[in-house]
Order: sequence, then C-alpha cells, then structure tokens
Amino acid sequence: MNEPILEVSGLKMHFPVKDGIMLRTSKFNKAVDDVSFHIMPGETLGLVGESGCGKSTLGRCIARLYQPTAGSIKFEGNEITGLGSRALMPYRQHIQMIFQDPMESLNSRHTIGDILEEPFIIHKIGDKVSRKKRVKELLEIVGLPARSVSRYPFEFSGGQRQRICIARSIALNPKLIICDEPVSALDVSIQSQILNLMNDLQQEFNLSYLFIAHDLAVVKHISDRIAIMYLGRIVESGEGQEIYKNPLHPYTRSLMSAIPVPDPHRKIKRQIISGDVPSPINPPSGCTFHPRCPEVIDECKYKVPSLETITQGHKASCHLIAKA
Ligand code: SF4
Repeated sequence: MNEPILEVSGLKMHFPVKDGIMLRTSKFNKAVDDVSFHIMPGETLGLVGESGCGKSTLGRCIARLYQPTAGSIKFEGNEITGLGSRALMPYRQHIQMIFQDPMESLNSRHTIGDILEEPFIIHKIGDKVSRKKRVKELLEIVGLPARSVSRYPFEFSGGQRQRICIARSIALNPKLIICDEPVSALDVSIQSQILNLMNDLQQEFNLSYLFIAHDLAVVKHISDRIAIMYLGRIVESGEGQEIYKNPLHPYTRSLMSAIPVPDPHRKIKRQIISGDVPSPINPPSGCTFHPRCPEVIDECKYKVPSLETITQGHKASCHLIAKA
C-alpha cells in the first residue's frame, strides 16, 4: 500500500491582528483552523471554496511560504512544519507552486531563459550548457517554441505565460505541485488547454496536485478527490464522483447548483446563498456557515459540528447529516 506524499494534520494559521496605540495583538485572523487531509502519489486533490475561505493560505503553509501556527505537515513521511530555510531546501525542490496571475509571478525584466534557469542556479544543478539545454526542453514540454528563451514575459499571451510558470514548476522534477487558482485569470477556451497540459504532465511525471479553485466546475475534470473549505475549515471531502453525485453539506450543494448547465432546456433548482464569507477575525458562533445556511436549525447557532465519516471516504460536518 502506498504512503501519502503529503499528510496535513490539525493545521492552523492564525495571523495576529494588532490595534490600539501600542499595536498590541488583540485578535487573530483564523485563516486556517484545524485542517487535516492527505494526498497520495499521482493524485489530485481539488480544494474548493469562495474567496477569503483560507484555501490559498493553506496552500502557502504547505509550500512553507508561511510558518503555520500549529499542526503538522509531513512530506513523504517526514515532518517539515518546523524546519528552517536551510533544512527546507531539499523539500523546496519537490514541492512547487503555480500562482493565479502568471504576469505577477514572472519577473518582467528577465528573459524566459533566465526565469527558467533560475531554479537550477538556486539549487546548484548542472553547468551553464546543460542548464540552457534543459530550459529549451522545458519550453517544448509545455508547448512553447525553444526559441522563446530570449523573449520577455510581456511578449506572451496570458495562457502562454501560465505555460511558462508550469515549465518553471516542473523544472526540478518535483513530486507535489500546489496549483493556486492556475486558470482563474484565463479565458475559458484557454482554461481547458492548460488543464489538459496539467493532466498530461501528471501522467508523464507522476505528479501529485493540490488544485485550489473557487469554482467546482473547474476542478471537476482534474480532481480524484475534492475537499470543500469554508471559513478556514474543511466542511466536506470525498471522491470527486461521490461529491458530485451526492453532495451532503448545504454549502457544497449551493456551490454545485452554481455550476452552469450546458442544456438550456434542463431545469435545475438553484440554491443561492446570500451574503459574503464572514470575517475569520470574528467568526460566527456554532457552525460558522449558519448565518448563510438555508437549512439552519437552532442547534447550529451554538454547537460546532465535527467532520464525521458518513460513508467510506466521504466526510461532512453538519448537524443535519448527523441526525439523518
Ligand atoms: Fe447549515 Fe446547521 Fe449544517 Fe451548518 S450545521 S451547514 S448551519 S444545517
């Protein structure tokens, strides 16, 4: 039996909020609050939720761009949560990130050749000749001409720039890539090309993905399993097919009902949720979804539901499911 490539247990990221003349910490922004999950080698976990639910912060904690407040992150069985920057170097090679805005994540004053060569220089891999050769190979792997090395990021379209970011992310043969809304800034026609490229690369290099998105429709075709996040916590998780066929949590059902249906004659009952995600600095009591939940009962206002296994591999946190 395979071991998980990534195991996250009880992870918390609470940012101190300072106020007053003395700038004392009076509150905490609980962006990630007690999150646990795992990813197997070659697997894609789709992490879905509205803006502000903490999913990008969670991705950045795993990439160790943030030092988590509490909890554990294990990569291939090794604890990496408390490691300093020097001890983290070997892991940085194996855990890469792709960001939402490719223009912002590429240095506009560097050529594509320089950008793609940089990871090899940082990790002291190869000499100048072998690095240049590898950079051209990487461009061809992601469907760009090798002669692009001397061009600058602004000379490419949004989709091509995201291909460059993907090339950079696979440069060091990583095992896990955290994809933070990698297609959200792209046109719909380009989105499918990038998703197909990511699928092909996963097959070829046995990559694992944590694929973060705010739209369930985007993760549908790329995810093996899906986790739904709301206000810093996972509220439902399970196999992708199972979540789409049998969504248990009212929040998941409302996200599902927002997916456009290609058949204009098919009537679907939309479950629209009102309002925005509340502030994680001052979250609602009990179930944090209760002010927006169309199925709220009294108990939800004071009792926190726990994430329970409902059927094999399918978990959800809702008082109504526990009562059913
Ligand atoms: Fe809605 Fe209550 Fe379930 Fe929360 S616990 S999702 S408020 S029904």
